[in-house]
Amino acid sequence: TATPETRKFEAEVAQVLHLVTHSLYSHKEIFLRELISNASDACDKLRFESIAQPDLLAGEAELRIDVSWDKDARTITIRDTGIGMSREEVVANIGSIASSGTRRFLEALGSEQKADARLIGQFGVGFYSAFVVADRVTVLTRRAGDPADAGVRWESDGRGEYTLEPATLEARGTTVVLHLKEGEDEFLDGWKLRALVRKYSDHVAFPIRMPKEAPPAGEEDEAKADPAPGWETANDASALWTRPKSEITDEEYQNFYKSLGHDFNDAAAWSHNRVEGSQSFTTLLYIPSQPPFDLMMGGRDERKGLKLYIKRVFIMDAAEELLPNYLRFVRGVVDADDLPLNVSREILQQNRQLERIRGACVKRVLDLVEKLSRDEPEKFAAFIKAFGNTLKEGIVEDPGNRERIAKLLRFASTKGEGDARTVSLDDYIARMAAGQDAIWYVTADGYRAAAGSPQLERFRAKDIEVLLMSDRIDEWMLGHLREYAGKPLKHVAKGELPLDEAEKQQQEEAAQAAAPLLERISSLLGDRVEAVRVSARLTDSPSCLALSEWEMAPHLAHLLREAGQ
Ligand code: ADP
Ligand code: MG
Repeated sequence: TATPETRKFEAEVAQVLHLVTHSLYSHKEIFLRELISNASDACDKLRFESIAQPDLLAGEAELRIDVSWDKDARTITIRDTGIGMSREEVVANIGSIASSGTRRFLEALGSEQKADARLIGQFGVGFYSAFVVADRVTVLTRRAGDPADAGVRWESDGRGEYTLEPATLEARGTTVVLHLKEGEDEFLDGWKLRALVRKYSDHVAFPIRMPKEAPPAGEEDEAKADPAPGWETANDASALWTRPKSEITDEEYQNFYKSLGHDFNDAAAWSHNRVEGSQSFTTLLYIPSQPPFDLMMGGRDERKGLKLYIKRVFIMDAAEELLPNYLRFVRGVVDADDLPLNVSREILQQNRQLERIRGACVKRVLDLVEKLSRDEPEKFAAFIKAFGNTLKEGIVEDPGNRERIAKLLRFASTKGEGDARTVSLDDYIARMAAGQDAIWYVTADGYRAAAGSPQLERFRAKDIEVLLMSDRIDEWMLGHLREYAGKPLKHVAKGELPLDEAEKQQQEEAAQAAAPLLERISSLLGDRVEAVRVSARLTDSPSCLALSEWEMAPHLAHLLREAGQ
């Protein structure tokens, strides 16, 4: 039918819209980055699909993005020659919340309803950022391969409803028209838009064209010959990672990171490498300076990790295939020369070449973290705070790199700085007393409980350092970290401190004197304890619970009980 159909947004879309428009207020300008990033994704998708179906490029071979504006109509238009959308896809992609990431985003926000602008882009709500500056958005789109009359016109004022109607569109791809709100006229300016494109989208691997404007007098630029007169390319349009390191500025690396990771903050560090040989590939890996808030919620958002390219063609988000879970905070790009372009996720999972690339990525990341720990103590401290617990998972997940990972971990300790995680296992070993043969630790529910444990008294009296483990993951990790640099790790409640001769004698005398008392306590407690003994563990407290060598630590037993085991 020719009459537009009106539909309601899913309840959650309305919620996201509300959130986005209110919380992005101080970062309005990112709407352009988000829409260009969608256009670029659409070009990526078409380039990928056209490998198997070259016909999809019929009519217009060039993949590109055009950005224009109209002062009188007060509109900004972003058009791409990418994959486009069918009617079903429009409904599924920009009328509902398809990605579970968005759902998690909403759940995580909970009742607070105050979105940190930094988080918005990470959750696939990018398109809705258009409504930060526009009070009406029109989308005209036609999927590649579909006939001209299979186009769709979508329109909404972002308040709960949208309209859909068929449209005849001569060209494939998507056009997004923003009808600007009152007061947003600053964006109706070529220089302003050009500056935003350069700032946020310079690295986009497709040309972003803008209408030519008369250059300031005396600056005629004849060198730039553009195919279509009237338009000129506004971005660099080269894939950043393919350029030589020496020619890339820190700022360019940071800008690339920000659009890749949808982050407003700078990356903490990066590593850019080209491997040549029987198998050639390029990696550009970043460590963020702050954790995305869902990092410890167990999951990882597939779309935020590593992007796999093959000879500069974007293939897929392949974080899981390219990095183990404990390095899920890493962002970046892997571009391989020798993988087949029609590779599928299933093939990737058992591909030997990919196995090598994966190994190389892990090595690069660990190298990078090591470098931080050596050369940039402040950044490293921030890294430990943000990702230290995630890294601990590697002790279990990546036995091959266990020693390297253990070296990077930092803990609180009886000789550390309060509850700050600053003590490395190497620091500990360097301070070990003569004759001390183990790395001692205590586990507890929190730093205070660990630091105040009566188990520590004798260690304190003997000036023996004890690591204070109070993160949830510690028990699990310690179950797999039995030794480091040839020294066993021991729980203070399990191992016995060796006694000297005088202490042994004292102990025996005390045991004899206390025998009647021990018997009485033993009969009172009955089956609840295995044995009641006089111990050398304590100096001030009258008693404590101890474990035999193979028993579960109390903290772990408690966790398991909590989990209903
Ligand atoms: P994300 O890009 O993170 O998926 P967005 O809100 O930016 O989230 O976009 C939602 C979806 O809408 C995209 O995943 C894509 O399927 C579709 N989409 C948006 N813009 C375009 C476009 N220019 N061409 C084709 N599809 C698009
Ligand atoms: Mg997007």
